[in-house]
Amino acid sequence: MSTYPQRVADNILPLSVAGSLPEAFIEWYFTENIEDHEIADEDCELCDQEQLRYHFEIKNRHTNHRLWVGSSCILKFHVQVFDNGTLLDEKGSAKKLEDLKRKMRLDSCIKALRKLAASENNDILSNALDFYLKNKYLTPKFAFVVFWRLNSNKIDHSPSFFKVSLKKDKYKTDLAQMPLDRVHMIWPALSSSQRKLAVSYGHTPPIST
Ligand SMILES: [Zn+2]
Repeated sequence: MSTYPQRVADNILPLSVAGSLPEAFIEWYFTENIEDHEIADEDCELCDQEQLRYHFEIKNRHTNHRLWVGSSCILKFHVQVFDNGTLLDEKGSAKKLEDLKRKMRLDSCIKALRKLAASENNDILSNALDFYLKNKYLTPKFAFVVFWRLNSNKIDHSPSFFKVSLKKDKYKTDLAQMPLDRVHMIWPALSSSQRKLAVSYGHTPPIST
């Protein structure tokens, strides 16, 4: 079995002009094309690492070859990332890729919410969609209804991508008073500090999350 650096070299060198690493990577840049495969089982065409949900396209400016890779490889191998024609530094590249992933997570939540609002004649669900579009988060009560109905309607979604807000006292009170089975339903969408807060209200975490 070939080693990790060997696999990367075997994948990138035949598509590059330079005959060695890291020189070959100087020819490559991120094209801004991204793809959400919905399920995390795609390979990175650079390192052959599996289980990627998001593919980022990189292109060689001399050979025009393209590869679909993971964002971590773009950062690890310093593949060039631009923003409006300006080459970004390491920190800027990381931020840009993270922002793109955040945008894809948001889009995937909105897609699921739109599907849900269209599948039931239910004002709560259309209100939840409007609320999410406006605020980019759900209240604990909205989150429970949304997850319950998404599951009932068998609509594909990633619960952990949704954001729940506990900023207002009312949201905190609603979470504190929520029956445990409902808390467990929204659990995947809670951040670790929100989970701690839920536990401080007397809720117990689900057995497996
Ligand atoms: Zn990779």
